[in-house]
Amino acid sequence: MSAQRDECVRRDAADPLSSLREEFVLPDGVIYLAGNSLGALPRSVPGRVGDVLEKEWGQGLVGSWNAAGWWEAPRRIGARVASLVGAEPAEVVVGDGTSANLFKAVVAGMRLRPDRRAVVGERGNFPTDLYITDGASELLGVEHRRVDPTVEGITSALAEGDVGAVLLSHVDYRTGTLRDMRALTALVQEHDAVMIWDLCHSVGAVPLELSRCNVDFAVGCTYKYLNAGPGAPAFTYVATRHHGTARQPLTGWHGHAAPFSAADAYHPAPGASAFLSGSQPIVADAALEASLEVWEQVDQSALRAKSLALTDIFIEGARAAGFEVLTPLDHAHRGSQVALRHPHAYPIVRALAARGIVGDFREPDVLRFGFAALYLRHVDAYDAASVLGEVVRSEEWREERFQARSTVT
Ligand SMILES: *Cc1c(COP(=O)(O)O)cnc(C)c1O
Repeated sequence: MSAQRDECVRRDAADPLSSLREEFVLPDGVIYLAGNSLGALPRSVPGRVGDVLEKEWGQGLVGSWNAAGWWEAPRRIGARVASLVGAEPAEVVVGDGTSANLFKAVVAGMRLRPDRRAVVGERGNFPTDLYITDGASELLGVEHRRVDPTVEGITSALAEGDVGAVLLSHVDYRTGTLRDMRALTALVQEHDAVMIWDLCHSVGAVPLELSRCNVDFAVGCTYKYLNAGPGAPAFTYVATRHHGTARQPLTGWHGHAAPFSAADAYHPAPGASAFLSGSQPIVADAALEASLEVWEQVDQSALRAKSLALTDIFIEGARAAGFEVLTPLDHAHRGSQVALRHPHAYPIVRALAARGIVGDFREPDVLRFGFAALYLRHVDAYDAASVLGEVVRSEEWREERFQARSTVT
């Protein structure tokens, strides 16, 4: 055993977060580095979901909308998410998916600046962010101006003028680059534009301070680093100063001030609740609520320090194995994942999976490894990098069985 591996074992023994791993179901023989795509199952979830099915639905039936707190779930769970993202309880609701919520946020943001004719999006962003912004801008009759997500790119897009809102990802899904939320928000607001952040790859991965950064709107998923399960409801953050004025386009009855009044006219609910639309997936909400319990024990700055240690260990091993690292080496610009570039990225990812190292592939040539510091150990990062080196040296990825593409890569 190498001295470096021994050092990782020692760090795990001294890790104040190490017991959190027990809160998750992790299959034997697997080092799970795709928690940035679908987080691992928290042990608290199956029992809670079972109760919702058997007791609340089975026995309580329709009365559970009141008695079991189903109606309040989007706000109650939203308040928990708010505490994770540095927001006030009434500023966050959970409901619908990320894509739908992005649509609501982009339209609401542009409607706050009705005289402006452009929304800025980032080139190379996660596809749904681009497609949704295309759809929203077409509907609004404004330009979708795509720029490089750098200070220079955004500055020049703002200088062109007429920008109503800017949508950026806080952590780039492909490279793992972390953007400076405070500085970019200030830059956008200097031009009197509205700042919308996509937090899919940062919530649960890096500490967030939405209020302190003066963010206008934010949207994030809960099935990545928050471990709420496949297709779990997303969340929307609406800054208090926009409550009552921001108008989202999907004005359904759950976002109404008095949903049971049977009024013919829509009147928005107070707070971020106005961003709800229709009935929510209560079973999935229960999984989300249970998955959030673990965060009460988590010191986010300790989690961040561990995440950086894990990615440092993996990056060092990947560089030793000859990989080009796309993720910034500078901690200030790194999320909680490592992206590597290789011309044979896809079969290497498959060959790693066959050895129990689960990462994923992103077009065109990126191997992506998420590090969920809640349940990974330092030794996992070390071992994953060692196997990566072996897979490349042995060229086992050339085997026929690793070449065929699945639908989900
Ligand atoms: C994962 C992810 C999404 C997911 O959108 P869904 O509507 O949940 O499918 C959106 N944007 C970014 C940046 C993501 O990383």
